[in-house]
Formats: sequence, C-alpha cells, structure tokens
Amino acid sequence: MSGSPLVIVYHRQPLEEVMVDGKIHYRTNKSPNGIVPTLKSFFNHLGEEAGSWVAWKTFDPEVGVDFEKVVTVEDPFGDYRVSRLPLTKEQVESFYHVTSKEALWPILHSFPDRYRYDNVDWETFREVNRAFAEAAAEEVADDGLVWVHDYNLWLVPLYLRRIKPDVKIAFFHHTPFPGPDVFNVLPWRREIVNALLDCDLVGFHLPRYARNFAEVARSLMGATMGEAIPVDPVLATPGMALSEPDVPEKVTFEGRDVLLGVAPVGCNASLVDSILATEENKALQAQLLSELDGRRLIMTVGRTDYTKGMVESLCAFERLLERRPELIGKVKMLATSVRAAAQMTVYEGTQRDIEGLVGRINGRFSTLDWTPVVLFGQAIPFEKLVAYYAIADVCLTAPLRDGLNLVAKEYVASKAGNPGVLILSEFAGCAVELPQAMLTNPYSNRSLDNALDTALATPPEEAAAAMAAMAKEVATYDLGHWAAVTREQFTKIDRVRAGARPTEA
Ligand code: UDP
Repeated sequence: MSGSPLVIVYHRQPLEEVMVDGKIHYRTNKSPNGIVPTLKSFFNHLGEEAGSWVAWKTFDPEVGVDFEKVVTVEDPFGDYRVSRLPLTKEQVESFYHVTSKEALWPILHSFPDRYRYDNVDWETFREVNRAFAEAAAEEVADDGLVWVHDYNLWLVPLYLRRIKPDVKIAFFHHTPFPGPDVFNVLPWRREIVNALLDCDLVGFHLPRYARNFAEVARSLMGATMGEAIPVDPVLATPGMALSEPDVPEKVTFEGRDVLLGVAPVGCNASLVDSILATEENKALQAQLLSELDGRRLIMTVGRTDYTKGMVESLCAFERLLERRPELIGKVKMLATSVRAAAQMTVYEGTQRDIEGLVGRINGRFSTLDWTPVVLFGQAIPFEKLVAYYAIADVCLTAPLRDGLNLVAKEYVASKAGNPGVLILSEFAGCAVELPQAMLTNPYSNRSLDNALDTALATPPEEAAAAMAAMAKEVATYDLGHWAAVTREQFTKIDRVRAGARPTEA
C-alpha cells in the first residue's frame, strides 16, 4: 500500500458493525448529525486514493485482540479504511477518563480548582499517544496529511514527526485554549506545547484561543510570533471580527513554521431544514404542543458536565418559580443532561447535583397535573431534538465555559425564523458569532434572572426578527463552510513549505 493522502485521527470510530449472513460488515455510522460525518466528507476530495481513520477499540488482554485491526468501511461517498487501535480498559481509563478528563479538561476550560493530578499516570498517556502515532504512520503516504483531533491526542504530533519527519500534520482543538496563567498549571506544559509545535497547522474555533496558544508557545518555548493578521472577514463572521483579537498567521520554533488556523465549527443547518420539512417531524411537533397544553417551554440541553452550567440553569428556573408564582403551572423546563459513561467518576457529583435539584424543584412546586422540570438522562435522537427545539419558547444555554456550543446554533436553525429566544452564555464560544442572542453571565444570578424574565416577555415579532438574523448567520457559516475553510487552511501548508507566505497564492 502506498498510503493514504489523508489520515484522520479521532478517538471515536466512524462505523457500525452489522451482521449479515453470519459475517460482520462495516458500515458508515448512521447518525447524520455531529462532527463525524463532516470529517468523513473530507475523504470525498481525495480523488483515487482512499482516506484512513484511526480510532481506538477496547480489548480484553485475557482474550486477546479479537477484532480486525484494519477494516474497510462501505460508504455511499466512497470506501475508506479504519485502523482500530487495540487498547485495554485500563489504558482507556487512565489516558481518557483520568488524565484527559480530570487533569487536562478542567485546565482547558479554565477551572483550575477542578484540576486533579493525583491519579494521573503520564507514562500511560504517552504510551497511548505513541500508539496512535504509530497507527497513523502506518496509514499515511509519505507526502500525506495526518489530521489529529483534540487534546487527548496532544502528543501524537511529537511521536509521528519522529517516525515520518516529512509528513504533514494538522491539529484541531474542539475545546477552548487558555492563556499562560491557566495553561501553566499543567506540569507537562512544555512537552505538550513542544508536541503541538511539531505540527504544520494548529487549529481552533476562535481567534482568542489561537492567540492564547501563541502566547503560551512564546512564553514557554521562546517561539516567535509571525505578523498579526486581522481576523479574515471572509473566513470569520462579522460578529467575530468585531470582538476577537488579531491572530499571528504563524509561530516559528526551531526553524519550523506552525500555521495557526481559526474556524468555528458550524451546525448542519441543511440537515435541520430537511428534518423540519418531513411530515413525521411536523406531526411530532403538533403532538408535543398538544402535550404542553398551552404551557410555555424552556429547554436546556447538554452533556452532564460542570462546564455546561446545568446546575446554574436549574437554580435560575427554581428562582423564577419562587419570584413569580403566577408562572406556576404555566411554564415547563425540559432539561436534557446526557449522562457521562459510568466510569467517569469525575462527573458523578454533577449528576447527583442535577438529579437532586430536579427532585427539589419538582417536590416544591408540582401540582397534580403539572411537573415543572422533566429531566432526560439519555441523548434524545437528533430528529426528535429538532422537534423540541422547534416548539421551545426559550433555549437556555448557559455554560460556564464552552469551546463553541452547537446546541445554540441548532436551536436557531430549528426555529427557522419563528419566534423563540436563545439565552446564551457570554462564555460559550459561539456567543461571538451570535451577538443577537440574549447574552447572559451564568456566574451572576441577577443576569440569569433578568435574561429569563426578558425572554418570557419578548414580543413574538421582536424574537422572530432576532432569530431570522441569527438563522442567516448559522446557515451561511454552517458545517460545510467550516470544512471549506479548513481545506483552504490545508493548502496553506504546502505554500508555506514551498517558502511562500501563507496568504500568498
Ligand atoms: N445532542 C443530541 N441529543 C441530546 C443532547 C445533545 O443529539 O439529547 C447533540 C446536540 O444536537 C449537539 C451535540 O449533541 O450536536 C452537543 O454538542 P455541543 O457542541 O453543544 O456540546 P459538546 O457535547 O460537544 O460539548
């Protein structure tokens, strides 16, 4: 095999295993929403060669590796290979659940007080990252591109560069990236930044995260910053260009130019449109509205994670019912807090807090024919979620910190210009792109209370006008736009390697 021109390294597998006549077939994952289908769409642009994907799959060492390590997935857009890296449960626990979620995640989200160091086994983190790098090196062509996703694979570029010095390496962060004051809490800070400086391109959702990374690389490693270029108005939304800092086009370290890329991920607005257009979805909306029986619906959606602000949102709803007893029986909250995997002990406290609060609110305010909060602990299938978005009067999206937050964009897309109010935390990355949302500070009770009061009192025409303006943004800067911008960033790697400025044609 000559190797793939593009290898995507992402912890989750993009496939489903189905049994046909006693034989396993590997098919593309059916879920139409989310980042995975978009990443796969990059394989459509490779011409004759097949793309590759590297992910992990757990195995029991007592049984041995009982699955095919490399499989070909049948995809309507063209087949691609998936290299499944066998990891033991202990390796996953250590590298993902402990090191990534207890130590790295809180720092990335600027929660140093949540940072836990004691259970970290950095050697295992290195070992797993090295194994991912080796698997990617086996897949990639000598002049190909390896595109690594997210902080749990931060060290992959370091090991990959040692195995295949000339390969192109890009990295995308799906999280925020903090400035040196917070990042430097990590004892492995130099090793991490050194690894990222082995990339050709390091990408982020927002200019501010890219700028923070450049500051960290300069202060820790002495990397020099290239010329600061204003946020590209073609690549960025107008809201973003107004409030975000300029970003150096590259940082240079030990003779290597590392491009900095900025592209906030969009939602799949056309998928939302096509779901809304189905008779099935319209019927579901009608059924949900009839179940609501004239009550107003406030929804809040996220994974069970302290960063998502679910506790703060539930407390705000409780205060709303306390402050305004006339709303008792007239407003309902749908809280979706998708439970973390059972092994994620770090989220157990948040889970307990959420369940306790829901119990308390329902215990205090329920009547025979009305329950104030409905809590869903399992993910709602996307098609159904879109129906809820479409009928909800308010979407309360109040993370304490979030790299981007797709839920907010999906709510806007699902409203299709109809009235509805998006209450959005200032600390969600997408707040920069959606300045017409009702921005709130989830650290302030007063701010949350005001936002809920104003949202419930907003005249429908006013709400519809703000929604229509945001819907335009969300539809223009959708997932397809993100993919196009990213492909453009990839072409800059070749230009820089040929000695040109990134922006020169
Ligand atoms: N989601 C879903 N069903 C649910 C809750 C969430 O399908 O019950 C999806 C939601 O549509 C969104 C994603 O999960 O696409 C969450 O993305 P977001 O960027 O908001 O948060 P993340 O979990 O990536 O931090």
